[in-house]
Amino acid sequence: MALEILLKYISTRGIAPELDFDDVLITGLARDGGLYVPKEWPKLNKNEIESMRELSYADLSIQVMKPFIGNSISSDDFDTLVRDTYDKFGHPAVAPLKQLENNLWLLELFHGPTLAFKDYAMQILGGLFDEALQRRKKRTTIVGATSGDTGSAAIEACRNRGAIDIFILFPKGRVSNIQQRQMTTVDALNVHAIALEGTFDDCQDMVKSLFNDLEYRDKYNLSAVNSINWARLLPQIIYYFWAALALGGPNRKVSFSVPSGNFGNVFSAYAAKALGLPIENLVVATNTNDILSRFFNSGKMEIKQVRPSLSPSMDIQVSSNFERLLFDLCERDGSLTNEIIENFRTNGYFDIETELIAERADIFSALSVDDETTLARIKKTHKDTGEIIDPHSAVGLEAAHQIRSSGFVSPEIPIISLACAHPAKFPDAVHRATGSYPALPVQLDDLLEKKEYTVVLPNDFDSVSNYIADNTNV
Ligand SMILES: *Cc1c(COP(=O)(O)O)cnc(C)c1O
Repeated sequence: MALEILLKYISTRGIAPELDFDDVLITGLARDGGLYVPKEWPKLNKNEIESMRELSYADLSIQVMKPFIGNSISSDDFDTLVRDTYDKFGHPAVAPLKQLENNLWLLELFHGPTLAFKDYAMQILGGLFDEALQRRKKRTTIVGATSGDTGSAAIEACRNRGAIDIFILFPKGRVSNIQQRQMTTVDALNVHAIALEGTFDDCQDMVKSLFNDLEYRDKYNLSAVNSINWARLLPQIIYYFWAALALGGPNRKVSFSVPSGNFGNVFSAYAAKALGLPIENLVVATNTNDILSRFFNSGKMEIKQVRPSLSPSMDIQVSSNFERLLFDLCERDGSLTNEIIENFRTNGYFDIETELIAERADIFSALSVDDETTLARIKKTHKDTGEIIDPHSAVGLEAAHQIRSSGFVSPEIPIISLACAHPAKFPDAVHRATGSYPALPVQLDDLLEKKEYTVVLPNDFDSVSNYIADNTNV
């Protein structure tokens, strides 16, 4: 076997030390405030990619991820973790492709335990995190705030893990019944779903205050599983390979349309391309919170007010993972990246010449889709194909249609639109569009009868910090 070169990771701000995978996993955000990216992309040639065609989803994951992981976790443990994770998913193909039209496909990424694409990576992250902590004989207290979806994915990823206690704060009475129950009905001693008497912003501020209390943070070894962790992006690379291989890759190029918010999912597609997967175009699809599509079309990154939409998981103005692309746009100059981001933090604005984007990131195109058009797409898809899609998936699919009819991408090249959530998670929008409510999938059909385990706490630092201190095993 060829000698494996150990992959190192560098920070986008250029100051924090180079780390290997294990430390990147545990550290999350780099100490200089940057995000970790691979120092170099391991390259796969055409023959190597072609030979992956026969692999199962789990085996493909193992092969593609291994060069990134290095040798901190044993090969056997890693293989078992990946196989066990995807075995539990609700569809034998893990990420099935559905054809909607000639050369237009839907990639279903909602067959994990919480029915959204975040499960594909969060489940692996939870397992890797726990394994690394156990190996180091450490424990951690994970604390997070959620407006609905990420919280349940994190809870499912961490439940019953020996080295982790997890506390998720959600705004009491402000998440949907299904979202709440996905968090509160998990019967595991290390899981704590806290209904905070406040808004989502109060939840986020509370988490920030806990992390900013350095003494508290160190005492309970607080950490987060947010989307800036490289281990959240790595497992997402796989489904781009999976879909492309199924449609004739690497001998045939494909394009993807990706409903985007924090720029994590579409960055994983960019990474797949960097590894050698032939991708023609990546459509960054946003809702009316269109900072990303404005950027790709004008070179101007400018913060505006967040507006609630039918696709709430994309209601974002500052896309934290965008910094990883910016670093490449700056030709991996950490101090330039730092300057631009710091300036953006202060002024809410920066710009980059569109020629430069065309030269260094020409794979991207971008579109924004408003709520009305989203509903129309759900309705039309249902009428034409019988498929019921959720509002996030509809944003992606609408963008795929628009970019095609604009002539920007060739109709000869298959376009794969990502279905990021199960329609049953967004019943009201689906009902508005189609006149009927989507059925809950079998994994969740007892959700509404299950017992809830939750605690209601006032929006008060002492109450929350004491509750966590009393209930963590750190
Ligand atoms: C998180 C999420 C998105 C946005 O993905 P990013 O990686 O943040 O760009 C889109 N759709 C759904 C359903 C999500 O949960």
